[in-house]
Amino acid sequence: MNPFRYIRPTKPQAAIDAVANDPTATFIAGGTNLVDLMKRGVMTPQKLVDINRLPLTKIEHDNNGLRIGALALNATVADDRQVRERQPLLVQAINAGASAQLRNMATTGGNLLQRTRCPYFYDLALPCNKREPGSGCGALEGINRMHAIFGFSDKCIAVHPSDMSVALVALDATVQVSGPKGNRSIPFADLHRLPGDTPEKDTTLEPGELITAVHVPDGPFTKHVSYYKVRERASYAFALVSAAAALDLDGTTIRAARLALGGVAHKPWRLLAAEQALVGKPATEETFRQAATVAMQGARAFKHNEYKLRLAPNTLVQALNTAAAA
Ligand code: SF4
Repeated sequence: MNPFRYIRPTKPQAAIDAVANDPTATFIAGGTNLVDLMKRGVMTPQKLVDINRLPLTKIEHDNNGLRIGALALNATVADDRQVRERQPLLVQAINAGASAQLRNMATTGGNLLQRTRCPYFYDLALPCNKREPGSGCGALEGINRMHAIFGFSDKCIAVHPSDMSVALVALDATVQVSGPKGNRSIPFADLHRLPGDTPEKDTTLEPGELITAVHVPDGPFTKHVSYYKVRERASYAFALVSAAAALDLDGTTIRAARLALGGVAHKPWRLLAAEQALVGKPATEETFRQAATVAMQGARAFKHNEYKLRLAPNTLVQALNTAAAA
């Protein structure tokens, strides 16, 4: 591991200034992804700004929804009574991620900012535009069975690994950030970006911007929800494909739906057209299959991930069936 400086500020502004004024600096919280990346030499920050002493751990409910502090641990959020009652989809998604040990270390903000698990990104001997812009994409013509079927570019076909983010994009969350230019709120769907010509940028955060909280609005999605994750090991693995489904039912008629897929794109993949296709329809498997067909429009596979073209709609239908029956 490269040598680095380490500071532990107690005030958010001090942490923001420390990163904003030094392009070699980065924030660290739980470190469950960053430390791995540093050990392998994939990321080599020269200064770590440890934010664990900042007052960002609270989980609160206001009139509009839940405000989850960026330093609230994944396990704490999933175990919180208010979160369990108001946002069960989020709880299911968090508990589908990683292992119990990791969920006890990983923070809310860090979960959103974890980096792709594309194997080429982690191997310094192989080309990767995300790690080293301009070096090429090893996965494009290489082993790409874990990779994207939506929204990719010829520069990068990686997928975003977070389960929590799939639920948050479906639930219309917003991300609250503080930075050198002040505070702002980012709709969750705009936090992560598609690779385009600059796959080295995972998010729309500006240098020095710190996630302080995630806000999840109240809604009717407290019962008929399901986060369904397909992976190679049930105990601990990233998603091949996952689906978040939340239904608001009037008897057996769908009043509203929220849908997103994970493991299919460089960002959590919201399915707005498929949601619209469900409204006013009976909550049956036939309806769900029609919505899944809508959801898959525009999908394209590579040499080794063609299975995702079948797995993704089937996963979505499974999640919808489970949500309807909940
Ligand atoms: Fe790198 Fe993206 Fe290509 Fe993977 S898919 S090798 S992360 S550029």
